[in-house]
Amino acid sequence: MSQDHQQRMARKKAVIDERIAKATEERGVLILLRGNGKGKSSSAFGTLARALGHGQSCAVVQFIKGRVQTGEYKLFHDHPQVQWHVMGHGFTWETQDKQQDIEAAKQAWAVTEKLLQDDSIDMLVLDEMSYMFKYRYLPIEPVVAALQHRPKNQTVIITGRTMVEELLAIGDTISTIKDDGHAFRLGVKAQAGIEW
Ligand code: ATP
Ligand code: MG
Repeated sequence: MSQDHQQRMARKKAVIDERIAKATEERGVLILLRGNGKGKSSSAFGTLARALGHGQSCAVVQFIKGRVQTGEYKLFHDHPQVQWHVMGHGFTWETQDKQQDIEAAKQAWAVTEKLLQDDSIDMLVLDEMSYMFKYRYLPIEPVVAALQHRPKNQTVIITGRTMVEELLAIGDTISTIKDDGHAFRLGVKAQAGIEW
């Protein structure tokens, strides 16, 4: 290895060490996972698995009731440290009953609002919640207020293809998952263990 390379690496390490030394705050964060690519919900549930591995208490609210028996549901729903809620009647792309969807959204929000006040919950996953704002099923203001007043150490993860500006403004960690290709467009059908 050249001396030049070693010097560059040493400088890089010094910069990173300095950044690590500056990041001293310990608190929950708001993670927003958006974009058209595959990997938002699976990232959220992967992070949930991480938290559970450390013995943390977690809750999940699924705002869109697609397939009920997803792999993550089967694995986590009766875990002693997990509370799992699926939105009432279930907004699906098929129902097309707006009034029923709004009712279900309100019920899911009522559950979520309580969880956002519960300091025994370390991590809260709000899967596909972003659609509730896109379709104006829920007003954004009370959600922003509740997120800002949640327990200091509670981490919240919100997923959905589009994120409203109000959430982007208060997100700590924001990842946009880009669609650079999807097997579905190659004629591969949705499969257990990959899609659900
Ligand atoms: P995953 O749950 O696999 O992490 P996701 O949460 O990023 O996906 P959603 O927008 O919630 O994606 O879409 C839900 C379903 O659609 C999943 O089964 C997912 O695999 C699939 N999907 C995601 N992105 C695409 C895409 N670009 N084209 C086709 N299907 C997709
Ligand atoms: Mg998803």
